[in-house]
Amino acid sequence: MKWTVIGYWGAYPEKGEATSAYLIEQDGFRCLIDCGSGALSRLQRFVDVKELDAIVLSHYHQDHMADIGVLQYSWLVQNSLHHTKHKLPIYGHGEDESGFAALNHQFTEGIAYQEGDILDIGPFQFTFQRTTHPVPCFAMRIRIGDQVIVYTADSSFDQELIPYCSKADLLISECSFYHGQDAAKAGHMTSSQCGRLAASAGAKQLLLTHLPHFGNREDLVKEARREYDGPIQLAYEGWVWQG
Ligand SMILES: [Zn+2]
Ligand SMILES: [Zn+2]
Repeated sequence: MKWTVIGYWGAYPEKGEATSAYLIEQDGFRCLIDCGSGALSRLQRFVDVKELDAIVLSHYHQDHMADIGVLQYSWLVQNSLHHTKHKLPIYGHGEDESGFAALNHQFTEGIAYQEGDILDIGPFQFTFQRTTHPVPCFAMRIRIGDQVIVYTADSSFDQELIPYCSKADLLISECSFYHGQDAAKAGHMTSSQCGRLAASAGAKQLLLTHLPHFGNREDLVKEARREYDGPIQLAYEGWVWQG
């Protein structure tokens, strides 16, 4: 299982980059996790857009799905050029009617998931757990055999995340604020809370992502390290984990 960071900013992308977007691959199956602002452009450094096999969205905030519309245009253009009628499945929760409706298009098909669902998407088994966020949002636990990746999506610190992240080979945690800031008010986590989550869950490695546009981001790693003694990495475009 290969995980590549495409976009890692919270809220908006810094120049030439993207907000939340990750590529997960196995045996030639390519799945995009979230599709934030700038994702379509940056994704093409790593994969041809028409070679995507599925997309899974955590929620409908723009920094996680802003590029769905232009991705649909890209599939329209590519299908027209190649005289094909390939349809791309886009998995999203069904609790936001207009958000979910936007996943349907001539060449994309929205497929609704719910908390607790166990979905086989290509070679990956996905399970979803609701997070604590101002809008419905779902963390993802992704398994192949005995390998597990957990992506928190957007969430404030929540005890229920601990068993969900249990023993993850790679924990990808949103890290929107620094130690001591009130992240919960905005539905997000601090660096220290990410570290505590990784330690409590017994995660083997921690990737900090959904990063803030202020402060010295290397401090996020130092602050998380006070809570967690495993390997910690700050996300950047092109960072790869291979299990
Ligand atoms: Zn976000
Ligand atoms: Zn959000």
